[in-house]
Amino acid sequence: MRLQKRASEPEAMDEIVMYNRRFVQERRYERYQTEKYPKKKLAILTCMDTRLTELLPAALGLENGDAKIIRNAGGVTRDAYGSEVKSLLVAIFELGVTKIMVIGHTDCGVEKMDSIQMIEKIRKRKIKIESLERSGSGGFDLNEWLSGIQEVEEAVRDTVSLLKEHPLVPEDVGIFGFVMNTETGELMEVKESDCLF
Ligand SMILES: [Zn+2]
Repeated sequence: MRLQKRASEPEAMDEIVMYNRRFVQERRYERYQTEKYPKKKLAILTCMDTRLTELLPAALGLENGDAKIIRNAGGVTRDAYGSEVKSLLVAIFELGVTKIMVIGHTDCGVEKMDSIQMIEKIRKRKIKIESLERSGSGGFDLNEWLSGIQEVEEAVRDTVSLLKEHPLVPEDVGIFGFVMNTETGELMEVKESDCLF
């Protein structure tokens, strides 16, 4: 645990906070008002890529209130008990979701991401990682944890399988995999592997 204080730069937030004040004063929120239960009973797991922020909902015809959208680096998960799956379970059991779309995308930064290079960047910021261990777990493989995905279609397929086989995900929840074209928003369906071996 690092105890040093973070650099405080309130001016970095000024523009956004000022915008927010005007947004509320001018009641521009009114066109977004909706309820918390997703109208389309849909949850989407996708990447945090900035190019998808508006493109993805627009390309799927989704408006505020239509779907739960969970975003992370890559839009996939290898962790059956990580925060993405937990969020999807909340979406299913608490919010009435019956369909899940896992949407990777072309030109994803996480594809072929090199954890060795990222660890180098961490070290250059003078962060000491040698003693990093998850207490009680007998060590923590930072290299493995930070590693990217090899190929987006395969990663989407693996995430769809993980969810379909998950002991807490009901069988009547539809789970579908796609890759979105980051330029055009076109969806390409990721079919389950034909390979039987
Ligand atoms: Zn991405």
